[in-house]
Amino acid sequence: MGRKFFVGGNWKCNGTSEEVKKIVSVLNAGEVPSQDVVEVVVSPPYVFLPLVKDLLRPDFHVAAQNCWVKKGGAFTGEVSAEMLVNMGIPWVILGHSERRALLNESNEFVADKVAYALSQGLKVIACIGETLEQRESGCTMDVVAAQTKAISEKVSNWENVVLAYEPVWAIGTGKVASPAQAQEVHAELRKWLQANTSPEVAATTRIIYGGSVSGANCKELAAKPDVDGFLVGGASLKPEFIDIIKAAE
Ligand code: PEP
Repeated sequence: MGRKFFVGGNWKCNGTSEEVKKIVSVLNAGEVPSQDVVEVVVSPPYVFLPLVKDLLRPDFHVAAQNCWVKKGGAFTGEVSAEMLVNMGIPWVILGHSERRALLNESNEFVADKVAYALSQGLKVIACIGETLEQRESGCTMDVVAAQTKAISEKVSNWENVVLAYEPVWAIGTGKVASPAQAQEVHAELRKWLQANTSPEVAATTRIIYGGSVSGANCKELAAKPDVDGFLVGGASLKPEFIDIIKAAE
C-alpha cells in the first residue's frame, strides 16, 4: 500500500511580509516531483496564512501551526479550527514540542485538539517525540507510544493524520537523528499502530521525521522504508527546502 511522500515546512514564528513573499517566490520557481509523488505543505505564522495561500503555487498547500482545542468563543488570542476551515486552510500542525514544552500542552490536550480539528474537516500533522533525557534513559518508545495512545483514544479515523516523529534533541540543534535511529522509532510506531489501531491504519498512516533535516541529510533518511517524509523547520525557510522535497524521488 503506497504512502505518498510528505514534506512539511514549519516556518515557526519567523518572517516579515517581504521575507514571506521571497520564500514563496523561491518555492514557486522550484522544480519538484509532481503531486502524485510528493505532498508539500508549508506552515507560515497565522497572520501570513492568507498571503501565502494567495501567492503559493496550487500544487503546494498551507497549514496553520496550531488551533484552539474546541469551538471558538471567549478564548482571547486563540484561532479556532472552524476559522481555519472558513479561510480555506486545509492543514494544521498540532502538538509541536515547542508548544508542549513552552506552553505545557499535555498529551491529552494535544489529543483533544487533534480530535476537534479532524472533526471540523482539517488534516492534522500530529507531532510526537522524546527529549534527550528520555532517550538517554531508554524510554523513547514509552514516551512516543504514550503520546500516540492519547491521540488514538480520541481518534478512530486516521485518514487525515500524518504522524511527525520529532525527537526534541534534534529540533533546531543541527543534531539530526541517524537514518537508523529514525527508522527504528518509525518501525516501532508502525508496530504500535498495528497492535493498537488496525493493520490498515498502520500500513497507510504516514510517519514523517523532523529534527534538523537538511538538503545534505534528507536523501539518506528518505531511503529508510518507514520514513514517509519530513517536517522541516529551519531549512524550510531556505532554498534548500526544494532539495528536501526532491528527496521524494
Ligand atoms: C521543527 O520545528 O518541526 C523542526 C523539525 O525544526 P528543525 O528542522 O529546525 O530542526
